Amino acid sequence: MHRLSAIAPWRAYAQSVRDAGGRVGVVPTMGALHDGHLSLVRRAHDNGDVVVLTSFVNPRQFSDASDLAGYPRTPAADIALAEAAGVDAFVSPSLEEMWPDHPRPTLTTVAVSELAAPLEGAGRPGHFDGVASVVAKLLVITGPARAYFGEKDYQQLVVVRRLVRDLAFDVQVVGCATLRDEDGLALSSRNALLSPDGLRRARALSRALRAAKSSKGRPSECRTIMREVMDSAGVDVAYADVVDVATLTPLGDHERGRGRAMVAGVVEGVRLIDNDEIDFDQGGDRRALGD
Ligand code: AMP
Repeated sequence: MHRLSAIAPWRAYAQSVRDAGGRVGVVPTMGALHDGHLSLVRRAHDNGDVVVLTSFVNPRQFSDASDLAGYPRTPAADIALAEAAGVDAFVSPSLEEMWPDHPRPTLTTVAVSELAAPLEGAGRPGHFDGVASVVAKLLVITGPARAYFGEKDYQQLVVVRRLVRDLAFDVQVVGCATLRDEDGLALSSRNALLSPDGLRRARALSRALRAAKSSKGRPSECRTIMREVMDSAGVDVAYADVVDVATLTPLGDHERGRGRAMVAGVVEGVRLIDNDEIDFDQGGDRRALGD
């Protein structure tokens, strides 16, 4: 496994892969790797890509200094996991390399306006400007054929797809299913910050999604159900919404088609998110009655 940190050799490595007729698949991460990240690597391998995994805790996407300071960092374990997973190049750029002017703001920012505003964007001002800016930069450096992102961060996936379309990046964005533990909890680097009791409460996020889905209720009912499930488990709910899969605007009760249930909450000071698709086409009896 190649280990790179400066932009010039990172760019040169990706170029050498392309020159040899290979396709680069990039897996952007913030490190503290777990099996969710590695499922993206496996997907890239399945596609025959030469896998470049980037690990960078991007300060521009944190609105809270203590959140940034407390973010899990496990560099030695990350390298071992990436190597074992067959990653071809592990890129861990320094802050100076990525944002040389930091903490002064860069003059250039990529902002995916409306998609960045609701949900996570409402609770974390500037978050998606930071995400979009760092993703744009690492796509420019890496020049991948494909870029892998998890549905776990669904709003991020929608934002990235839009920036790639708006700025005509020549890359295919591959959305990958959320990996969960045996109790349904979405794997997340932040789970490492929770006590056993916190982990127990965190399970309410995926439970809320399942309860909403199986209720066969309309969006407004789903919102109520999700909030109740999280509330009663002691999760400090940030939002529990059902939105349009593409525009991320709240879905009305009369609307048909696929929606995305989106939840976020704070447990032991740790902000957690999860989401799932709900199909409002296949109305059960209850929905039919409400027509
Ligand atoms: P992060 O390091 O949390 O920024 O995540 C890096 C990438 O891995 C993002 O595209 C995430 O959506 C994805 N990811 C994180 N957790 C999971 C999971 N449990 N299943 C699938 N993908 C994930």
